Amino acid sequence: MEKSQYTQEEFLRLIIKLVVEELSKWERSVPIGISNRHIHLSRAEMDVLFGVGSELTPIKDLQPGQYAAKETVTIQGPKGELKRVRVLGPLRKESQVEISIGDSFVLGVHPPVRESGKLEGTPGIKVIGPKGEVELERGVIAALRHIHLDLVTAERMGVHDGQFVQVKIEGQRGAILDNALLRVSDKFAPEMHIDVEEANALGVKNSDRAYIILD
Ligand SMILES: [Zn+2]
Repeated sequence: MEKSQYTQEEFLRLIIKLVVEELSKWERSVPIGISNRHIHLSRAEMDVLFGVGSELTPIKDLQPGQYAAKETVTIQGPKGELKRVRVLGPLRKESQVEISIGDSFVLGVHPPVRESGKLEGTPGIKVIGPKGEVELERGVIAALRHIHLDLVTAERMGVHDGQFVQVKIEGQRGAILDNALLRVSDKFAPEMHIDVEEANALGVKNSDRAYIILD
């Protein structure tokens, strides 16, 4: 029998080192959640589109307290329209439409890549519901890739709200992504949100892992 180049102790140390490396990599990873085009509505717009005092019907839980609703709308730009755009709840202070860059070509509306809620200078769009339609003056964005973290996980990782990090995606179409915004809150659960086009380019599906790179 060939003699190993390692002593038993060296071999054990090597295994432990590899396990520790894998664990620390895993500790800084989050599941991926892929966002399809969707809309957040204010009370005023909900009233117009679905009727005064109407309520959303939750069908799928997202982040804690957030959900996909049964309700959908049509969004219509100067070049075209997209039907069955999912409404996400609960209602917000201001309506916001999140689309992909591909969608923007279909609609003829050209949104900036933005963090949710930062709507200054964003284009508007027409929204059509079963009970009425409304012309939003602003609120269309292509969502900035971001990572939701709860306070405990952020503390353990040594990161903070508003920080930008790099993220590694593994696999055949894997890549290192820049400019992933960390959003830390006790209302969040760990999850990286990217849109369908980013997901397709990276060859990932829901629940695949994204590895945060901290140096
Ligand atoms: Zn998100």
